[in-house]
Amino acid sequence: MSATAPEKVVGRERGREQGRVLLVSESATSALYREALEDAGLNVVGVSGGAAALISLRRSRPHVVVADICVKGISAAELVRSLRQTQDALPLVFVGDVEATRERRRATLEAGAFDYFQIPDELPLLIARARQLIGVQQRIDRLRAEADRDYLTGLANRRRFRTALGQEVERWRRYNVPCSLLLADIDYLKRINDAHGHSAGDRVIRHVASALTEASRDNDTAARMGGEEFALLLAGADEASAMAAAERLRIIVAAEAVEGVGIVTVSLGVASCPVHAETERSLYAASDAALYRAKNEGRNRTAIAGN
Ligand code: GH3
Ligand code: MG
Ligand code: MG
Repeated sequence: MSATAPEKVVGRERGREQGRVLLVSESATSALYREALEDAGLNVVGVSGGAAALISLRRSRPHVVVADICVKGISAAELVRSLRQTQDALPLVFVGDVEATRERRRATLEAGAFDYFQIPDELPLLIARARQLIGVQQRIDRLRAEADRDYLTGLANRRRFRTALGQEVERWRRYNVPCSLLLADIDYLKRINDAHGHSAGDRVIRHVASALTEASRDNDTAARMGGEEFALLLAGADEASAMAAAERLRIIVAAEAVEGVGIVTVSLGVASCPVHAETERSLYAASDAALYRAKNEGRNRTAIAGN
């Protein structure tokens, strides 16, 4: 089979999310297939040899890795093992100039890679395989994003929140970076549902969700914990800035009427790590206890843990 490059489709691919390929290869050999992959509309996000490939992985976030079996500094087995340990378990395809015998392909599959192709003869097969694996990886990315999101509000869900809370508390343990947790609960939602109907109640929930988004910064996690309860995890925020954020949120919620309902309010509990708690569980409990106090003291207010 000849190694004719497929016609250029770069223009057509632009605008859609392009597939990202990382090449693990010596620069001289990679020239052989880099251009062919790019001509096929794929985005080659890096070429690195040996151990440097593992660093590139984190930076360039490829969908698929294409590695030369002859690359120096890292063995095929090591590469397979490291890729398996990445969060995405990235697919790996090997290429080389030796013949793709049945035995070689079988050994490659058994080692945990997805395929082996002889270059340049099998370039069209490499491209087809890379495209297929990119499609699978993009679908996994989409599903993962959906699995982390609350369907009604688009906020993070409880599952995603848990992960983020674990990460923030870990950041405190390792680097002494504080964090704060703010829990919010809508005031009298049951009454609102009874008076205006369930879909009006849903509008109230979405209104509070957008206030949370407005009050949060890039590294914060705004989540719907379920029902009419929300959490805002503030990365790097101490007690004082968490209190300020809670008040800002409370004011944003009450500033604008919800269609068909009117003004609604929330009650908030605030707790900070390390001042009030140093574990995920105790931070959550401290914030929840503060929220309970805010409700008891009359609602539409913020209470801070430990007072
Ligand atoms: P409080 O001020 O003490 O928080 O009073 P409340 O009525 O908000 O609290 P309560 O816990 O008594 O009731 C929660 C209400 O929230 C009852 C439930 O029907 C409503 N709710 C929970 N999830 C949803 C939802 O997804 N949509 C709507 N519309 N209502 C919900
Ligand atoms: Mg509640
Ligand atoms: Mg409530």
